[in-house]
Amino acid sequence: MNNKFYSFLHQQILLMLGLSLLPGLGYIFLGWLHNVIMPALVWYGLVIIASIWGYHLHKAFLYDSMTRNELQQWYKKLKWFFYAIFSLWTVIFLLYSGETVSKLHYIAIFTQLGASVVASTLLYSDKKLYIPIIIILMLPLTVYFAGIQDWYGYVLSLFAYIFMGVLIHAANSSNKLLLKTYYQATHDQLTGLYNRNHFIDELNKMINVLKSTDHYSYLLLIDLDHFKTINDSLGHDVGDSLLIEVSERIKQQVSEQHTLARLGGDEFIIIGPEFNHIKDCQKAAYDFSEQLLKKIKASYIIPPHHLYISASIGINLLSNKDIKISNFVKEADIAMYEAKASGRDGIILFNDEFSKQIEKHLEVERLLHFALENDEIELKFQPQQDQSKAIIGCEVLARWNNKQLGSVSPADFIPIAEHTGIIIELGLYILEESIKTLNEWEKKGIALKQFSINISMRQIFHHSFINDVTTLCKKHLNQSLCSKIIFELTETIVAEDIEKLIIIMNKLKQLGIKFSMDDFGTGYSSLSYITQLPIDELKIDRSFVSNLNANEQNKAMVTSILNLAKTFKLNIVAEGVETSEQIEFLAKNKCDILQGYYFSKPISSNDFETLYFNQNLPF
Ligand code: C2E
Ligand code: CA
Ligand code: CA
Repeated sequence: MNNKFYSFLHQQILLMLGLSLLPGLGYIFLGWLHNVIMPALVWYGLVIIASIWGYHLHKAFLYDSMTRNELQQWYKKLKWFFYAIFSLWTVIFLLYSGETVSKLHYIAIFTQLGASVVASTLLYSDKKLYIPIIIILMLPLTVYFAGIQDWYGYVLSLFAYIFMGVLIHAANSSNKLLLKTYYQATHDQLTGLYNRNHFIDELNKMINVLKSTDHYSYLLLIDLDHFKTINDSLGHDVGDSLLIEVSERIKQQVSEQHTLARLGGDEFIIIGPEFNHIKDCQKAAYDFSEQLLKKIKASYIIPPHHLYISASIGINLLSNKDIKISNFVKEADIAMYEAKASGRDGIILFNDEFSKQIEKHLEVERLLHFALENDEIELKFQPQQDQSKAIIGCEVLARWNNKQLGSVSPADFIPIAEHTGIIIELGLYILEESIKTLNEWEKKGIALKQFSINISMRQIFHHSFINDVTTLCKKHLNQSLCSKIIFELTETIVAEDIEKLIIIMNKLKQLGIKFSMDDFGTGYSSLSYITQLPIDELKIDRSFVSNLNANEQNKAMVTSILNLAKTFKLNIVAEGVETSEQIEFLAKNKCDILQGYYFSKPISSNDFETLYFNQNLPF
């Protein structure tokens, strides 16, 4: 039962007090008129005592800060209060029904009928209240009529009996309707599990318990991995059936002491039982999560499909920690995302380090917004050299110098820029500055064969990208300079986007722009990309080059990439070249272009100019 159920009964207390204390005065007056004042006074005294009790119960009800146990105790007392106060109306009936000479018995009969109607309307939310109370009120009346021992007495007795049935039936119907609305307000339609509202309610209650006992509990946030793919590819009906199946399996694992709810989509949440010690709590949370993952991962048959799905679970331990309820859920959410980030199908326990990381991430995100405005983005250029050591090209690498954060690596800020969408603006700025530099260098006599710019996937898919590139090229470059540009792409393309990407690449190729597959060899479908995409160059990932001497496998990897490039007639660049041994190996295997710290770190445009013009100087 939830807040609404208890609050409804709570409201009825005051109404009942009013309906007892005020009319009660009338009964004392009648008692005084007809010489039954003493019993009437005693009766009213009892009504006052019951009312004081009721008033206390009314005041003691603080749903949000009560534990389940306290609520149960309160509800028990409340039941007895209602039994008592309605029974008192039967007492006045018994008292006045004998006063036939003064005709008080008519009043008594009406009182009893009235009280029954009141009971069936005020208390219809709770069967345990209205059924016994209507019987307590109406049964004496049927007996009373039967006791007249005349034909009309029997008829009235029968009527009273039927009336009792009608009242109970009416209350039952309203009760059914109410229970249905309660159910809908607290349950998820698809799976029949509790919904978010009810879960928050239960969590509140659990936190109240933990506050009063110093005990521990846990939250498990379960999110299915790649559920969206199933939904999108097989349809929502299959998705729904799968969700129902998953929820059934989780339901089988939870006990009475757990609270299981569906937060929405493919997210489920569980509140654990109470523990005295944090260690036990943590262990139980892990064990239970592992058990759940195992169950969820077993295959599903949703005709005609055989499906597999895994899940990521974030655990947050609950204690009397003084934080907002919603933060407990947020922390479990953070842990769950951490589980997703570290490869899915796993369990991660929240710790404060995560929130610090997130805070830092948010701070970087915030500052990145002002990076362009404050002129904090700088471009560096790393030379690319051929086997004769002549500089034939360069790669543009972005740098972010922030007052507060210092120098931030592009490996850190580019993903954030992609995530927030700033990459569009940032990428355009980098593109324009790079193109301007290419033009200036050309004027100064720096004749490069190629000029590489990193382009993020989010950027290339942006609707105005082709337009922007075309405008910039027309503004700053001629046709021959334009054809020196290489866009470096990293292999994070989703299969569905490949066709779209091919169209975009081909349009850009009409401007003369070429494409390079960056970090080649690290992605898992490298091979299929080079057969499908109109690529001109491969960049062997730094990790293969730097580990060339570590083992034969790396050597074999590099030679096979080089062979692959030959087969597909692609240029090849080795990046991260740091030692003469690496150069030797690469030279032997006919790797065209080299880039790395051995020759130069990424440097400013001025330094690049100096390096370029000094390379032919005789020593
Ligand atoms: P990347 O495209 O693979 O760039 C190569 C990275 O390796 C650069 O790191 C470069 O400084 C570093 N590097 C080059 N030679 C050596 C070497 O001999 N040894 C070692 N240890 N490292 C070497 P950086 O500049 O930190 O860039 C990191 C990544 O950030 C880049 O990886 C690229 O993916 C991304 N990035 C950089 N600038 C941009 C940009 O303007 N736009 C986009 N979209 N991404 C960028
Ligand atoms: Ca690159
Ligand atoms: Ca690379």
